Amino acid sequence: MWKVPLADLNFDDAEEKAVQDVLRSRWLTMGSVTQAFENEFADLVKTRHALAVSNATVALHLACLAVGLGPGDEAIVPSLSFVATANAVLYTGAEVRFADILGPNDLTLDPKSVASLVSPRTKAIIVMHYGGYPCQMPAILAIARQHGLAVIEDAAHAPGAWLDGAHLGTLGDIGCFSFFSNKNLSTGEGGMLVTDRPELAEKLKLMRSHGMTSLTWDRHQGHAYSYDVVELGYNYRIDEIHSALGREQLRKLIAGNARRRAITQLYWQALAAKVGPAGSGLELPFALQAGDPAIQPAHHIFPVLLPEKADRKLFIDQLREAGIQTSIHYPPIHKFSFYQQRYAGEVQSLPVTESIAAREVTLPLYPGMTNAMVELVLDETLKALAKL
Ligand SMILES: *Cc1c(COP(=O)(O)O)cnc(C)c1O
Repeated sequence: MWKVPLADLNFDDAEEKAVQDVLRSRWLTMGSVTQAFENEFADLVKTRHALAVSNATVALHLACLAVGLGPGDEAIVPSLSFVATANAVLYTGAEVRFADILGPNDLTLDPKSVASLVSPRTKAIIVMHYGGYPCQMPAILAIARQHGLAVIEDAAHAPGAWLDGAHLGTLGDIGCFSFFSNKNLSTGEGGMLVTDRPELAEKLKLMRSHGMTSLTWDRHQGHAYSYDVVELGYNYRIDEIHSALGREQLRKLIAGNARRRAITQLYWQALAAKVGPAGSGLELPFALQAGDPAIQPAHHIFPVLLPEKADRKLFIDQLREAGIQTSIHYPPIHKFSFYQQRYAGEVQSLPVTESIAAREVTLPLYPGMTNAMVELVLDETLKALAKL
């Protein structure tokens, strides 16, 4: 249907064979394949503990519970994120406070806005590494240290992204990754929790599986006879089929991200002439970071900001007619009906988030895009811009 879809899988025979091997092994629930996936992921990000789970939403929920969020507490979160970042806090009975973002060049949390929202109830900050580009972690970690707050990283966009040699997701207390089909590492549904702190890892591990002290796999292996339940836990486990896909995808991650980077650079170069008042008023978030050797992004998506007051629907429709799929990252969370009702009457001033979210369009980006596809997207983008 699309000439160029927004995203596409990079699956081949390797994924098919990996799934077939699991089916033939006759062990489907969490076991040795999941353990191998966790170990390999831990090696990639250099963390002491990696725990695979059903998806990143439950990873965020467990992370919130593990740092002790509950009724009466608050967590500071971005509004320019997927709704799960905020929902996870509400699941625990705690409330969210939405912080603003930096600006057109950097769509991640503004540390000044975060600092202004800290109250006696604040227990945690959740950052989101938009597009796999790092948040201002040194400043955010300093605020957290000053006030004794936990830092959870929503690293759904960030597998294979580093800041100063540290993998994103390992800078705060707990990192949460997503393996949803359109992410850089895809298993359909799936997620990973990472932490260096053994007491958090222990708690996360218990809560992933009903608060039980031993798993079916341990008992199958003859390592345990019975179990106790020591926490109110959940069934947030992954399974061997998804873990097998994850292991194959992990092998392709670095090359896939390198291709994403090359495509991103083609986009940035070709669109540079349209930037700013001398161009058409287009803006290219994160392009200014391109030369910073300390930053190695995952280039999960390619966001552009249309000129102010441009007709975004017209732009999107033009690309759609040309067979090019686009998306919006994101409708701000604080504007959703549910959140408007929940926090009705509370002043929520997020001017930067609101103005940028209204201008954002995401262009196609995935490793399998050919240079000809990139050219097509660029041609049609320039044509559509000229009509705004
Ligand atoms: C995809 C995504 C999630 C949720 O991930 P699931 O694995 O689908 O639950 C959370 N936060 C962000 C920023 C995401 O992009």
